[in-house]
Amino acid sequence: MLEEKLKIDKISKGTVIDHIDAGYALTILNLTGIDESKNLMTIGVNVLSKKYQTKDIIKIENVFLNETQMQQISILSPNATISLIENYKVIEKKKVELPRIIKKLILCVNQTCISNSEKEPIDTEFLVLEEKPLKIQCIYCERIYKLEEIVFTSKEKKEMKVKQTIQF
Ligand SMILES: [Zn+2]
Repeated sequence: MLEEKLKIDKISKGTVIDHIDAGYALTILNLTGIDESKNLMTIGVNVLSKKYQTKDIIKIENVFLNETQMQQISILSPNATISLIENYKVIEKKKVELPRIIKKLILCVNQTCISNSEKEPIDTEFLVLEEKPLKIQCIYCERIYKLEEIVFTSKEKKEMKVKQTIQF
């Protein structure tokens, strides 16, 4: 099995995010803020997998994800699985769930959309039209977005684009 040969050490306690769409691990780390963690992290990019050909995988010690982080992952990689590890064993494994309506996590870039109203800005809400490839629609102005067009809201970084370039 290819997966078993993966040269990533097991973690004693923490979270494994597996079956991430290939190329999205770094975006997920950045968007969820996991990249600011001081804990041990191992990241596999373009790992061979039987199911989805290539995938990314993130293992991080002593970190457990909150609901917002899980939703952010579900937007970028609806097939991702989250495993909770204790004493080197998987104690819980679940698939991320893309909500039917995504609230607050994404900006509507349409300047005339009421979610951008300067006087009374309101939280964005997007209806998920299609999961994969992702297609969402702003419930206020009805503008439709594909995954590459999405701009995320983020506390520290005001806007975040899906596409990032990786530089070593
Ligand atoms: Zn809108």
